Amino acid sequence: MRYHIWTIGCQMNKADSERIAGYLEQIGYQASPNADDAEIIVLNSCVVRQSAEERVINKLSALKSLKRDKILALTGCIVDSKVDDLRRRFPHVDLFFAPQAFGELSQFLIERGIAPDEGQPGLVLPVNPSPSTFVTIIQGCNNFCSYCIVPYRRGRERSRPIEEIVCEVEGLVARGVREVTLLGQTVDSYGHDLPRKPALADLLGQLNRIDGLARIRFLTSHPKDMSERLIEAMARLEKVCEHVSLPLQAGDDEILRAMGRGYNAQKYRDVVSRIRQAIPHIALSTDVIVGFPGESEEQFQKSYDLLSELRFDTVHVACYSPRPGTIASRKLEDDVPAEEKVRRRERIEELQQGIATEINARLLGSTVEVLVQNRKNGKWWGRTRTDKLVFFVDDADRLGQLVKIRIEKTSPWSLQGSLAR
Ligand code: SAM
Ligand code: SF4
Repeated sequence: MRYHIWTIGCQMNKADSERIAGYLEQIGYQASPNADDAEIIVLNSCVVRQSAEERVINKLSALKSLKRDKILALTGCIVDSKVDDLRRRFPHVDLFFAPQAFGELSQFLIERGIAPDEGQPGLVLPVNPSPSTFVTIIQGCNNFCSYCIVPYRRGRERSRPIEEIVCEVEGLVARGVREVTLLGQTVDSYGHDLPRKPALADLLGQLNRIDGLARIRFLTSHPKDMSERLIEAMARLEKVCEHVSLPLQAGDDEILRAMGRGYNAQKYRDVVSRIRQAIPHIALSTDVIVGFPGESEEQFQKSYDLLSELRFDTVHVACYSPRPGTIASRKLEDDVPAEEKVRRRERIEELQQGIATEINARLLGSTVEVLVQNRKNGKWWGRTRTDKLVFFVDDADRLGQLVKIRIEKTSPWSLQGSLAR
């Protein structure tokens, strides 16, 4: 018996899909790369932008003819609290379950006589995890940025207890994992809802002590929640990597206010400078939205100028996409024409390509530590502590190893080199 999981969206969805796969393998199913050959198909959806939602809907339609006696389950951010509408639109879907409501999937399979009735699955780990694996530590979001659908679909913030996360990471390390990336929409607000209010810095301290674990990362941080204690912990704990993902979203104060981000450009600059002072070689990545309602050319230029000033290693830039139910879609007119949004996006992409070319070129001739994650087209690939993608060729099996690579070629997107002797 086989299962097939199709996933789009953020790392959280990828982490959830790995857990779903772990559960299905626990009950005796095997992974299938094609939906055609599978008895159970799970779609893990994203609706953060309209383009993602359209892909999910196309996929659901394409599966209609394939369905026959297969079980089709839909999860991820398309599933909100009111599934009646989804049921009407997609009657061929057997089960809708909210993100991470794994219990609902197992209950359904138990009722169908497919899974053994051993109660709710406890801690489910991926069966063959990648050497670098994602671990969700806080779900949901309390921020309600005016453009964002996430809080409506993933609910309010819920942190997992420290002991549970430590136990999961120990289990992953026992299965060969060397690096974990702790996930949350606002990962740096971790713990405020737990009884003893531990902070992310406390969790990092505990994970840093796990033998066999080589590296720890976390994303995504919210600039307003980036505390001195967290910066100090990142600087002090040797396993915590020199990489932070800190979404800026816009460089203009009025737009930031309309987005409801809770900081202005100067506060963002201050956070970056505190991080860079404490950890001089840190790599920074960010997210930016262009064409937010009312964004003038001058306001867009402020995003552009701030990105040129702060010089990020990576920038993810998205055209604003109105999401039904969000504050912006209810109250603000989507008045920047589509072609203008694309022009602004391309200007930032071009700027960033130049910056990343220069930042990466500085690594030419240096030796970096790479955690090898996989092999593609005859080349091993992995990432540095600063999250740079590195390719190299070697005949030996290097999967999961930490190797030293001398960099011989650089580009804005990746580095190439060979084993340092
Ligand atoms: N929690 C993170 C934060 O505070 O920025 C990011 C979460 S969001 C799911 C991932 C990215 O999608 C955001 O950083 C934003 O750039 C983009 N995004 C979210 N809503 C969007 C929208 N309505 N239109 C365009 N991009 C959007
Ligand atoms: Fe969305 Fe804002 Fe929450 Fe990020 S912080 S998930 S952008 S509401």
